[in-house]
Amino acid sequence: MGLCLFLIDNTMSIIQLSALPGDVHLATPGCPPEYEVENENMSRQLFEEIVSRSVKTKEWTRDDFEIGCPLGRGKFGRVYLARVKYSHLIVAIKVLYKSEIRKSNVEHQVLREIEIQTHLKHPNILSLRTYFYDEKRIYLVLDYAAGGELYKHLQDSPNHSFSERKAAKYVYQVADALNYCHLNKVIHRDIKPENLLLTLTGDIVLADFGWSVHAPSSRRKTMCGTLDYLPPEMLDGIVYNEYVDHWCLGVLCYEFLVGKPPFESKDTNETYARIRKVDVRFPKCVPEGAKDLISKLLRRFPAERLPLPDVMKHPWIVNNKGK
Ligand code: ATP
Ligand code: MG
Repeated sequence: MGLCLFLIDNTMSIIQLSALPGDVHLATPGCPPEYEVENENMSRQLFEEIVSRSVKTKEWTRDDFEIGCPLGRGKFGRVYLARVKYSHLIVAIKVLYKSEIRKSNVEHQVLREIEIQTHLKHPNILSLRTYFYDEKRIYLVLDYAAGGELYKHLQDSPNHSFSERKAAKYVYQVADALNYCHLNKVIHRDIKPENLLLTLTGDIVLADFGWSVHAPSSRRKTMCGTLDYLPPEMLDGIVYNEYVDHWCLGVLCYEFLVGKPPFESKDTNETYARIRKVDVRFPKCVPEGAKDLISKLLRRFPAERLPLPDVMKHPWIVNNKGK
């Protein structure tokens, strides 16, 4: 609680943290599917080196931080508000237990999260500033996304949907972040409202890189909704590319405006079938411009999906997103 009071005074100090030591290059971000197995093996070895302290990282320790209130909990991570003692900089710290990571065989996902989030620098991507560890835990030091989860904002909005203005702004920002990821050969693969956070100024930051394959959001699972954002090519288990993210952006835009994802059905098989047929039905509330954009993203054949720079220039986006 007390920590929240320091926020306004310390937003300017973000620059300071990025200048601190500690980035470790683990591998090249992004990995074509055909190299995943080899890459996973390498990641496991690297992970063992990190946890056994044979790779020198940085001098950060838990004692450098005052840990505050919990911000959220994921499948493996517990996330806390924290303050760097000497600078009073506010951050979010995600704590992962080494034993849980090993037991669940997700070393690769942890490495991917560290590697990608450390190296991607974009205003709409959550920055991982550094990490450190002790005997039992790994600590990821992240920028604090003071606006919280977009999912919660969506749930709290009337009809669980956003105005055209908000939807267009968010779609633009996600498209911008994804375009940057793709230029850096990173595919997010798990775009959905649960993995988008908001900054203090109400801008989107893309989070949760690296967990998509093995750790679908628990909330979606209980609603049997983990499938809602799956592109047809991932459903069919065939080779996919960065266009999976374009598909998810179309689903996201639909959910923002309609209040539920386009292929939501009573049971899993029906959702599968509707995704495969690209059975999208637009309620009257969806404006023509948005329908046009969504239809150009939700295409069965990946290469036909609208390129991200064109999403950002689409008339419905341009006319609604504001400055
Ligand atoms: P899962 O894979 O189940 O989604 P996870 O272990 O990857 O979870 P996160 O999703 O990264 O964990 O974090 C859990 C929750 O903590 C988020 O849903 C969010 O509410 C909160 N959280 C995470 N990072 C931040 C941050 N940087 N600023 C503010 N809140 C955060
Ligand atoms: Mg998450």
